[in-house]
Amino acid sequence: MLRKIIWIDEGRCNGCGLCIDACHEGAIGMEGGKGKAPARALL
Ligand code: SF4
Repeated sequence: MLRKIIWIDEGRCNGCGLCIDACHEGAIGMEGGKGKAPARALL
């Protein structure tokens, strides 16, 4: 299965947090008020 990889543009992130619940892998968290996908989630 080909997985979609997302990239968060911190300049456009308003910190709403919606991406955290939307990620079925639980890979996204908040860091410094911005959505953040850890680099290890991209591997
Ligand atoms: S917190 Fe997540 S859903 Fe909200 S603006 Fe930032 S990247 Fe988008």
